[in-house]
Formats: sequence, C-alpha cells, structure tokens
Amino acid sequence: MHTDHPDHGHGHDGDHHHDHDHDNRYSDMQARVRALETVLTEKGLIDPAAIDAIVETYETRVGPRNGAQVVAKSWVDPAFAAFLHEDATAAIASLGFTGRQGEHMRAVFNTPETHNLVVCTLCSCYPWAVLGLPPVWYKAPAYRSRAVIDPRGVLAEFGLTLPETTKIRVWDSTAELRYLVIPERPEGTEGLSEDDLVALVSRDAMIGTAIAGAAS
Ligand code: FE
Repeated sequence: MHTDHPDHGHGHDGDHHHDHDHDNRYSDMQARVRALETVLTEKGLIDPAAIDAIVETYETRVGPRNGAQVVAKSWVDPAFAAFLHEDATAAIASLGFTGRQGEHMRAVFNTPETHNLVVCTLCSCYPWAVLGLPPVWYKAPAYRSRAVIDPRGVLAEFGLTLPETTKIRVWDSTAELRYLVIPERPEGTEGLSEDDLVALVSRDAMIGTAIAGAAS
C-alpha cells in the first residue's frame, strides 16, 4: 500500500494502483490483497473475521448520514457549531462518531463569501467516520489534480456554479487531518426539525462538490 507515496504514510484502503478500472489491474489488486491477507493471517497478525467486520461496518453502517447529523446539529445549535469550529474531532466524537480515518478532523464552514472543497491530491484520505467510504470519483486522478488546478471548472461539472465573487478554498486531506465541509443552511428551512434538515445534507455537500438541498 502507498508504495507510490512512501512519505504520505497511512494504511487505508490500499487501492491506489487501480484508479483506471481496468479489469486485469483490478484482478491483480484483488489477488495481491488476498495474498497479503493470507500471509498476515498465517503469521497471526490479523484476524480475517475482524477485517470482515470492519469492511461490513463501513459498507453498511457508517455513511454520510453521520456527517449530515453533524451538519444539521451545527445549523440548529450555535454552541455545537462553535464547538465544531474549535475542535471538530471532539465535537464529532461527542455525537458518537469516531474511528478510523476520522481521528483528526477539521470542519470548514461555507459562507456566502467562501466555498470549501475537499480533495486528497496524493491518494484518497477521507473522513470515514462521518462520510463512510469515499466515492470512486474522489479517488480518481482527474479529480485529485483538477480540484486544485481548476476548482471552479470541477464544480461546474458537478452542476454547481457559484457566483464569481465566491472564493473557493481547496483543502488537501492528509493522513493526519481530514476535512468536513459544513454547507450553508438552505433558505426557507427555519421551520424544519433537525431530522428534516439531515435529509437536506448530501455526501457531496460535505465534500464541497454540491451545496445543501432546498427544503421540499
Ligand atoms: Fe490519501
């Protein structure tokens, strides 16, 4: 894992070598993963059942709804929003969302003046604890390079056109620090409950490739 970026060391999903979705490369990666798992199991270093449980957790239980709960709470609870601004790791943990790839979090708040966009230029660092597993495009070389070079163009391709006066700040995730975008609360949502607000917050809005949805 990460043999292409030895100085960006962190041990996450390990699929940095098959961004192009060529079938043969994917099979090669699967074979390598299987071989690695076998060796580590035989050496007593890992428990395959534990690995399965971790994968199951992130595939089915942990997802963007966690992050959406963080965002909605920040919209309705100014004290929580301040906590989130000061210490996102602790604020998010206070809601019970902790764990892998989410140990050191920073929340970046959109304003009318500034829109925030998250990328990992080197690989695919992502806040698993609040967003689950990253989408395929987040790991793609095109997104990783162009989000930095031409963020406004990338956002347009996601269907998001911001006013020219809105500044776009791009945050490059690392193994040490991951970002959660706090989108602006949509207008006309004053009467909604926190649960209703959760439904307006998409995964992409918390990466910054979208904004929070309008109330229906
Ligand atoms: Fe990464």
